[in-house]
Amino acid sequence: MLLTVKTKLHPTKDQHLKLLRTMERFNEACNYVSEFAWRNKVFDKVTIQKNLYYDIRSQFGLSAQMTVRLVGKVSESYLADRSCYHEFKPHGAIIYDQRILTIKTLDACSILTLEGREKISMSFGRSQPLDLKRVRGQADLVLIKNQFYLLIVVDVPEEPQIQPKEIIGVDLGIVNIATTSTGEIFSGKKCTESREKYTRIKGIFQSVGTWNAKKHLKKISKKERRFKNDTNHCISKQIVAEAKDTQSGIALEDLTGIRDRVPGYKALTSAIGKWAFYEIAMYIRYKAHMVGIPVYLVDPQYTSQQCSHCGYTSKENRKTQSDFFCIDCGHAENADINAAKNIASRADVNQPIALRPEPKRSGRWKGKPTTLVVGS
Ligand SMILES: [Zn+2]
Repeated sequence: MLLTVKTKLHPTKDQHLKLLRTMERFNEACNYVSEFAWRNKVFDKVTIQKNLYYDIRSQFGLSAQMTVRLVGKVSESYLADRSCYHEFKPHGAIIYDQRILTIKTLDACSILTLEGREKISMSFGRSQPLDLKRVRGQADLVLIKNQFYLLIVVDVPEEPQIQPKEIIGVDLGIVNIATTSTGEIFSGKKCTESREKYTRIKGIFQSVGTWNAKKHLKKISKKERRFKNDTNHCISKQIVAEAKDTQSGIALEDLTGIRDRVPGYKALTSAIGKWAFYEIAMYIRYKAHMVGIPVYLVDPQYTSQQCSHCGYTSKENRKTQSDFFCIDCGHAENADINAAKNIASRADVNQPIALRPEPKRSGRWKGKPTTLVVGS
């Protein structure tokens, strides 16, 4: 499984300038190529390269490999969308490969700039599955808020997928962040408390509005983000561990396009914090992948209104947020556990119609950030 690991670079002032100049030149050249491509309606990289290779090298002073990479970047962007001219921002990503970027230790890399190679120190965020032997040569150099990062592609070994004996359904929510069909409830109480606390503090700083207050605000937002991230990591880890111990597969609701389907979803996401659902689902999926636990995505409709005992579906079944009571068969249960059971049964191997296994990922690097970015 290919993961993209985000690494912070710590260049000296001089190195920072060198990287910046290289990045600007790289994107300047991208625009030069883009103009040619758009004007002549030529989008495949071989033809572009044939026509422009020497021009680019002499006009922009870029290395052979960087030239190849930038032609690839422009070509790929047009292959994705040919409806208009593409302009590249001065601080767009530079795509590096093993010929122009070397990572031999965890704390530094050797990276090509306009003025030759530079050895630049770097650091990884927490909980990152980085094994140097697994680092592919490919990486994107990006500039975020005047800070350079490398998005490094890492090939993480996956264990062969097990043949699950059971399915654990996982219901994601706000009051309870995650609930499993086996009765495990991960409460969102702490998250809600912390969110309220941070919102309060942020409100105070926002109303002050001074430079210093803004700095504090930034710090607090970062802290809050880290707390959410840690919580999601922790919960997903426990769910995957349970699945592994019991040789079970995991079923999640397929949340693609949920915004269009579920009324009130917008209000929901702003309450829980954007992407929180996606983040925890993503963590579960990648942690499961690494240990060979299959993950199934199921139709999320009416999972909270359906009775997990008899199948009767009605709004009336769910009187309150926490209680489920089937008006048909009288089955009573915690509402989230009931929903998680529905999710599990929808993924049950005996009901293949409801089963939608995750799309298989290609093991080959295709020049784009792959599955997900972990760490900060
Ligand atoms: Zn029932």
